[in-house]
Amino acid sequence: MAAKRDYYEVLGITKDADLAAIKSAYKKLAVKFHPDKNPGDKAAEENFKEAAEAYGALSDAQKRAQYDRFGHAGMQGSGGGPEGFSNFEDIFSAFGDIFGGDVFGRQGGGRGRVRSGPPRGQDLQIALTVTLAEIDKGVTKKVKLKRYNKCGSCAGQGGTGKHTCTVCAGQGQVRQVQSSFFGQIVNVTTCPECMGAGHTIKSKCATCHGSGRNQEEVTLSIDVPAGVEESNYLTLRGEGHAGPSGGASGDLLVAIKEAKDETFERRGTDLYCQVEVPYTAVALGGEIRVATLDGEVDLKIPAGTQSEKLMRLRNKGLPDLQGHARGSLYVKIHVHTPENLTSREIELLKELEKVQENDHPKSFFQKAKTFFS
Ligand SMILES: [Zn+2]
Ligand SMILES: [Zn+2]
Repeated sequence: MAAKRDYYEVLGITKDADLAAIKSAYKKLAVKFHPDKNPGDKAAEENFKEAAEAYGALSDAQKRAQYDRFGHAGMQGSGGGPEGFSNFEDIFSAFGDIFGGDVFGRQGGGRGRVRSGPPRGQDLQIALTVTLAEIDKGVTKKVKLKRYNKCGSCAGQGGTGKHTCTVCAGQGQVRQVQSSFFGQIVNVTTCPECMGAGHTIKSKCATCHGSGRNQEEVTLSIDVPAGVEESNYLTLRGEGHAGPSGGASGDLLVAIKEAKDETFERRGTDLYCQVEVPYTAVALGGEIRVATLDGEVDLKIPAGTQSEKLMRLRNKGLPDLQGHARGSLYVKIHVHTPENLTSREIELLKELEKVQENDHPKSFFQKAKTFFS
C-alpha cells in the first residue's frame, strides 16, 4: 500500500483553509466518489474513504491542531486511524449530518443510505466436474439448478397497489441510534414490516405471494474455457437468485472440480503417465504407441533406455488458461519383467545370459554387490 497522503492534499485545500472551505472540498469529493455513483469501483471507494478520513480529522479543531503538529502520527491512538469512520455506515451517517441529506436526489431524506431500491438477489454457488479431455479443449456443459427467478405474472413487482413502507419510509432498513458512554452507535437492521423491500403491496400477486420471485428449475449452458484448474471459479453475472420485489439478480459462481483420470496425472499444464514396456523394447530400442489426450502417438525409445526414465512429449500437455502455451506430456518408461515364459523363451534367455557373461563380465555383478553391501 502507498504511503498515507497528506489530508490537505487529499481534500485539495491549503493549510489555512477555513471550515467552510474544508466542508465544500469534502462535499465535492464525496459526491464524485460516492459508491452509488461508482458501483463496484474499488478505487472510487478508497478515494471516498480517504476523503472522509481527511475530513474527519480536519473538521475537528483539536484533531486538526494535532495533525498540524505531528502529522499522521498525531492521529494514532485517538481512536485508531480514521477517527469516527471505522466503517461505511459511519461515513454515511456523518455525510447526512453534514450536508443535510439529499445530495443524490434519493427519497426518504437520503440520510446515509448505502443502497437504493430493492435488495439484490443472493449469489448462487455450484460445483462443476470436468474431465482432463474437457479441460484440454474447453467444453460447454448443461447444468440444472434451482433458483429464484423474477415472477413472470407480476414482472417482479409482487402485485398491485404498491405503497411506500411507513415503518422504514421506503429505506428497507431501520436505523436505531443509541447513546452510550462512547458516543452514538448506529444500528442498521432490515425493516421488519416490509422485509427490506421498502414498500408494501395491497393486492398481492397470486403466483409469488408478493415476493416478486419464484423458485424454479432452470437449465443453463456453461462455457468452461480450456485450461481451467481445480478450484478455479467462473462467475456468471446475473445468473444467481433474482432479488425480491424486482431487485437485480445475484451472480452464479461455478467452482471447477477436476475429475480423477485413470491414465494421466496433472501438474499445472504438464501431464504425467506411465507405460509398461517389454525388456526387449528398451534393450533394442524402437517405437511404442502411447496415449495422449488427443489420441495415440508414436514414441521413439532409444536402445538401452533404463527403467523409470521420463520421456518428454512437448505440447502434448494441457493449454494454459490464457491460451498462450501448452505443457508437456511426460511418459515414464517402466520395464516389464516377463512372466510365464515359454520353453523357447527360456532357452533364448539362457543363451543370452551366457553371451552377456562373456561380453560384460563385471558390470552387472559389481553393481549388485554395492547395492546390497
Ligand atoms: Zn419497511
Ligand atoms: Zn408475482
